[in-house]
Amino acid sequence: MRRILVTIAALVALAGCQTVQTTQPGAVGVERQQSMLVSSAEVNASASKAYQQITAEAAKKGQLNTDAAQLARIRGVSQRLIPQTAAFRADAPGWQWEVNLIDAKDVNAWVMPGGKIAFYTGLLEKLKPSDDEIAAVMGHEIAHALREHGRERASQAMAQGIALSILGAVAGVSRGGMDLTQAVLNVTLNLPNSREHETEADRIGVELAARAGNDPRAAIVVWEKMSKLGGGKSPEILSTHPAPTTRIVDLQVYAARVLPLYEQAKARP
Ligand SMILES: [Zn+2]
Repeated sequence: MRRILVTIAALVALAGCQTVQTTQPGAVGVERQQSMLVSSAEVNASASKAYQQITAEAAKKGQLNTDAAQLARIRGVSQRLIPQTAAFRADAPGWQWEVNLIDAKDVNAWVMPGGKIAFYTGLLEKLKPSDDEIAAVMGHEIAHALREHGRERASQAMAQGIALSILGAVAGVSRGGMDLTQAVLNVTLNLPNSREHETEADRIGVELAARAGNDPRAAIVVWEKMSKLGGGKSPEILSTHPAPTTRIVDLQVYAARVLPLYEQAKARP
């Protein structure tokens, strides 16, 4: 059964699949070809819709951007990071980036394809991050968007869905098509990133932070703080951003590698 699924998925992939390299390797050297079944334009349009839904819902509940000082703080960090995305892809600084603050207890932050970012007040209240630590979390989220991990995950979900629907058709069961907006919501809010995606986002994230003049070593502190948060409940962000067991060691290596970029950025007038 599994073999049939894999074979069908492979056939589907061959039919509609595109292999892309979404980013330049940067100083951290992230290089991996990605298979996409759906275009950036389609995914980004769906992400905009999904993001609109979430921010509108938060606004209706009086939970959108209620803390002007904290909002200014996270947007300030984003404004220093976003121009640095040019090191990985030329088009990214021109994206329609959005950064909003949702008033909720969750220790969470996420990004949707195309640069739609959300931070939760719970993360700021419980982590008490420095600006460098905010840049570490945001750099990580921005990296997911640059690598189009959401598009890649939606593509994987689609391949599985198509394979299942083909099998379903064979078995006489009908299945509906996949709703891309729903898929974007699901991969952003519910499903864990792969360890591979997390490692890529960690490495690109520290480089973005360093280039923006934020100490890249703050990423080590922030993920350590995250994993030590008590209260019996693991931070929400760790359910969608599972820690590779080697995360801290890997961050130490890559933060050290991009330290000269941080020194250069700090020396700029
Ligand atoms: Zn992540």
